[in-house]
Amino acid sequence: MAIPLSAAAAAAATTVAEKMKIHLPLHVGYATRGEATEALHLALLRSAGSDCKIDSGRSGKDRVTLRCPSSMKPVKGARAKWRALDLGDFACPQKEGEGYIAHRNRRMVELEEFAESQGHCGFKAVLVRGGSCDGGGAGGGGGSCGDSEPTWYFKIMDSGLNFKMHSDDCIVVGKATGRVARCLVKASAKADPSLSCASAIINITGDDSQMSIAMMPSKASMYRAMNKIKWEGEAFYEENWARLEVYLRDLRKLNNNVHVVLEKDEDNHFER
Ligand SMILES: [Zn+2]
Repeated sequence: MAIPLSAAAAAAATTVAEKMKIHLPLHVGYATRGEATEALHLALLRSAGSDCKIDSGRSGKDRVTLRCPSSMKPVKGARAKWRALDLGDFACPQKEGEGYIAHRNRRMVELEEFAESQGHCGFKAVLVRGGSCDGGGAGGGGGSCGDSEPTWYFKIMDSGLNFKMHSDDCIVVGKATGRVARCLVKASAKADPSLSCASAIINITGDDSQMSIAMMPSKASMYRAMNKIKWEGEAFYEENWARLEVYLRDLRKLNNNVHVVLEKDEDNHFER
């Protein structure tokens, strides 16, 4: 969904928490988990220049846990694993009379605290499907909160925020890619279709933005993102764009008397 953004409010926000509140408002529902995670990526980039990664081990069909990329260990041929699971000195035995779910939730809270005490970044956001799920607790409890329509919400933490921010010494830097990059250039490209990539980058990295040029996608990706936005009404744009070069080559091969020139610049962009 589109989040109404007041330019004045964005300029007045100084702390990361204030900026996050503008870019990722509390109690906002998203139609799909993809849309919600995209909103979090965007908000983190704009507010803190940082990023997040899905912890698949603690995510299911009704719940998605997102952590700091630095706390996720890449695993060859499999999904990244939460580094806290490799901490050998952690123990949290089940108390007498404590139920399975109560123990699991308490263990999760304690493991997160332990991981932080061992120097791991504690960033966390939890997406829950169904209902507004304002309940506290950081555990990995049940999924759906009711019978309301399937909508994804960021769970409100005990702090009253819908995320737990990166540690002060966390050096994770975000990078805009794919749909997130397209969202970033969308406003600029729509307002001025003749805008160059360089101007769009200045628009995005200027003002109160926490984004640096290093966080922007490559020029080629920006160019494609901007064109996709300009032409997004055309259902077959991507497909036709990809076919253009092949078509011109075939045209030249089949028509000896036709002079076909395909001009591309050094970034593999067609000259028009
Ligand atoms: Zn972090």
